[in-house]
Amino acid sequence: MHKITIAKGDGIGPEIMDATLEILKAAGAKLEYDEIQIGEQVYLSGNTSGISTHAWKSIRENKVYLKAPITTPQGGGYKSLNVTTRKALGLYANVRPCKSYAPFVRTKHTDMDIVIIRENEEDLYAGIEHQQTNEVVQCLKLISRPGCEKIVRYAFEYAKANGRKRVTCFTKDNIMKQTDGLFRSVFNEIAAEYAHIENDHYIIDIGSARLADTPEIFDVIVTLNLYGDVISDIAAQIAGSVGLCGSSNIGDQCAMFEAIHGSAPDIAGKDMANPSGLLNGAIMMLNHLGQSEIATNIENAWRCTMEEGIHTADIYKEGISTKKVGTKEFTQAVIARLGKTPAKLKPADYKADKPVSVAPYKKRPQAKKVLKGFDAFVDWNGTDADDLGGRLSQITTENLKLTMITNRGIKVWPNGFDETFCTDHWRCRFSTSNGAEVSKDELMAVMQKALAMDIDIVKTENLYEFDGKPAFSLGQGQ
Ligand code: NAD
Repeated sequence: MHKITIAKGDGIGPEIMDATLEILKAAGAKLEYDEIQIGEQVYLSGNTSGISTHAWKSIRENKVYLKAPITTPQGGGYKSLNVTTRKALGLYANVRPCKSYAPFVRTKHTDMDIVIIRENEEDLYAGIEHQQTNEVVQCLKLISRPGCEKIVRYAFEYAKANGRKRVTCFTKDNIMKQTDGLFRSVFNEIAAEYAHIENDHYIIDIGSARLADTPEIFDVIVTLNLYGDVISDIAAQIAGSVGLCGSSNIGDQCAMFEAIHGSAPDIAGKDMANPSGLLNGAIMMLNHLGQSEIATNIENAWRCTMEEGIHTADIYKEGISTKKVGTKEFTQAVIARLGKTPAKLKPADYKADKPVSVAPYKKRPQAKKVLKGFDAFVDWNGTDADDLGGRLSQITTENLKLTMITNRGIKVWPNGFDETFCTDHWRCRFSTSNGAEVSKDELMAVMQKALAMDIDIVKTENLYEFDGKPAFSLGQGQ
């Protein structure tokens, strides 16, 4: 027996959780449940995190968590509990299989069978946002080497354990050379360790276009958090319906299983919801717990139900489906088919799959870090970059001088274009004038001189070289 934590969530959550638990029970899953309350009621009771201390304790003790979707109230400063849970528990790998069940579920992509492995803790989802000037807000995109190594290694280990042939990386490293560039270079390093698994890379825009057009060319896709979030919904939808796909969130110690869709308040309480997404999440959970025989049995009963055309409204189609059913009738149909093998769809067999085991992250030797200057972000209401450049050029120290000003990343000084539209947010780069290392005291000296000139510095970023390589972007047009 394995004790797990469950949460029925909001909207259609209770209906699809009850359906899933009924099927798990009928299939003989060796599970005990500890139910916690999360979501809308908890938020509205005044707890802005949407979860109680007791609920955290249950998840951390049981280590396995089956969660129905929740509603995040709009406005009011509520943080997404889903993002918090993934990050607080270190659930770094979000695994989202998207497969077509043609011809029984309508799709234009009859041969697609892909698994999207999405980095789950970093990227723009760090949620670090600030307004810096009247006109400009920013969101920090944080990417770490351990974060990249863990997710890329997970993707290759997943491919190995599940007999997958290729891992494809999606990034935008032609534009974001530091952040996406790190993800891609880690991908290249780790791919070289897996000689028997093919690898390739697509820029996210053309990769997404190919995914929407010819998904059958992909096998396992590994990507950063935001891209993974977007492309997995697209992949699920083009496979048939977002209502079908389950997802696992895997960490070194805990794991959470869920449907990829939300709480669907428009159909809540109407016995219309398709419980397949959460059920597929539960099947992933059974495999994670080593109950692969029960997982295989449920998956095959579900495939029998699909191929017999017994469908909920979201996938029901005249000419393909044979019977439109509600959540409860669908649940009974799956239960009635336990022990059966699909006649037309390929039967599932998870018994041979090995657990995914990822070597722990090893810290690398400390690189030599040398300070070469800093970017001062200035709130300034003027329009003529030459005016600002002229004033800031007067500020110099032994090793530092103004070398560039950009506005929203594009170089506007020296020699900017009159056509460039400028906001009130100016990045003013002070860099070493003679190649020498710069001291923090010199940075402070520049800032003090700027303060004395009534220049409003709203933020600074230091410019470093790591092991002799500049580790910052150039200005566009520089
Ligand atoms: P949604 O996924 O809830 O619904 C989108 C559409 O798909 C709706 O028309 C809905 O009826 C339909 N749909 C979704 N799941 C279905 C199912 N199982 N069966 C049949 N039809 C289904 O997305 P939304 O409307 O954008 O979001 C609703 C709420 O869910 C929001 O509060 C959002 O924050 C939350 N949400 C939660 C999660 C989560 O808990 N993991 C994920 C996404 C959204």
